[in-house]
Amino acid sequence: MKSTKFILGSKQLDQTLAISDWVCWDFCRMLAGYFVVNPVKRGRSPGGEPVMPTPIPTILALDFDGVLCDGLVEYFQTAWRAYCQIWQPATSTPPQGLADRFYRARPVVETGWEMPVVIRSLLQGVGDDAILQDWKAIAQRQVAADGVNPADLARAVDGIRDQWIAEDLENWLSQHRFYPGVIERLRQTLSSPVHPIIITTKEGRFVHKLLQQQGIKLVDSQVLGKEIKQPKAATLHALLQTVEAESGSPPTIWFVEDRLKTLYTVKAEADLTNVGLFLADWGYNTKQERSQAQTDDRIYLLSLSQFAKDFFTWTVH
Ligand SMILES: [Mg+2]
Repeated sequence: MKSTKFILGSKQLDQTLAISDWVCWDFCRMLAGYFVVNPVKRGRSPGGEPVMPTPIPTILALDFDGVLCDGLVEYFQTAWRAYCQIWQPATSTPPQGLADRFYRARPVVETGWEMPVVIRSLLQGVGDDAILQDWKAIAQRQVAADGVNPADLARAVDGIRDQWIAEDLENWLSQHRFYPGVIERLRQTLSSPVHPIIITTKEGRFVHKLLQQQGIKLVDSQVLGKEIKQPKAATLHALLQTVEAESGSPPTIWFVEDRLKTLYTVKAEADLTNVGLFLADWGYNTKQERSQAQTDDRIYLLSLSQFAKDFFTWTVH
């Protein structure tokens, strides 16, 4: 596993938190643990063991797109341009209503090549519900029918985005917006003993830029982006190990993510059984996925209004 160096941040945005502070905070969170609810749904365990008091997080690990930042506008623009490049429609203006349909279909997209294929399928008359329910098969049928291959589609998408960023970074950044209240919540967290870290598949430099536009400056070790080239579960694992080695006790991590499959991969890791898992219901996920999260024995469905409130409200349903 690729090792990642994490520096423990502090209430001050750009200072390193001394280990002694962590020890002190450890004691505080132990006390706090008697008054808050367990982030892991242990109360539902088949063994029926007593519900143990559990602390609020020491580290709040946040996905970026679909949790803090809504990049749907950029996503559609990039997808549309790639679609135009591959399929060369008569006009380069997207039909009315297409963007909204694409936004609804967004949760099905796992990798970049699927973006223009969603548009192609929608314009070929595939229904919105069919896409939500059976996307993998539809995507395969579509690329086969059109004789295009995913590698070429991925290159088109990456090339368009890279060119846009290179030619007009400010314009590209302006296609992103933050969900209501999340910047305030992040600011609050930064001034509390809880240490926020962003784990994202976006390049870290763009996350820094977007947050800086909101007046938030994070240190490099607080933004773990695409450049670290490892799955989020591996990043969480490295984070646990490094912080434990530095502070002498394992951190309590709560992880907020909008992709249910990612939460499942974390859940499947034996070393990550104490990580609190939260599905952001305001992000890019489907109604069906939200229902699955609600009935999961470990994952909590989290609303945007809960996200803005105290941690103890996150596990109360
Ligand atoms: Mg996301």
